[in-house]
Amino acid sequence: MEDEDYTIAGFEPVFLSALEHYSYCPRQCALIHVEQTFDENIYTLRGRAVHQRVHEVDSFSEEGVRVEHSLALWSNRLGLVGQADLVEFHEGVPYPVEYKYGKYRERDIEHAAVQLGGQAICLEEMTGIAVPKGAVYCHNSHRRYEITITSELRSKVQAITAAVRAMLLAGELPPPANDKRCRNCSLNAVCMPSAIGDGSKARSLVAGLFRL
Ligand code: SF4
Repeated sequence: MEDEDYTIAGFEPVFLSALEHYSYCPRQCALIHVEQTFDENIYTLRGRAVHQRVHEVDSFSEEGVRVEHSLALWSNRLGLVGQADLVEFHEGVPYPVEYKYGKYRERDIEHAAVQLGGQAICLEEMTGIAVPKGAVYCHNSHRRYEITITSELRSKVQAITAAVRAMLLAGELPPPANDKRCRNCSLNAVCMPSAIGDGSKARSLVAGLFRL
């Protein structure tokens, strides 16, 4: 199947950040991108501070590597839009780096990698140069996790972009995950995963309303 061209009128752009949100939890993605909900917790506040610092630094060259901050990105082919925290150009080859704050462990990196894959696809379309690798930088551990932009990751980006777009167009909230993902989720209070996700708990709460 040929890719659609989202430059035509009426396209529904998908933010690069939505790819990570959806990969982590489709309901979280819908709360942010459909319902425009965004509650702060300690992790999002720290993350925002880190992002602001990254975006304040001007572009510069170091040891022959050009570094661009806050680079606007887009892909007409997939209908993606967003911004890269930082892109290094190694002998002209773009190398995106996505900054993250919080408890980024191996299982979290897989979600950030989808966002990074989206950035790589955008950079390839914008520059015409293949982007084989990028990195997720975890501020708390000061560690870079290098991500190879494999064909599997590209397929995942494409599939998740389509899923996010369908969700935006439908305007519906998926059911809550109600699992360990919810523990540090900034949207826990508005999502109420345990009340909504557990049917029996919800029924007992409703029953309690009418108990004298
Ligand atoms: S609280 Fe859980 S179900 Fe709700 S948005 Fe967050 S991760 Fe998803």
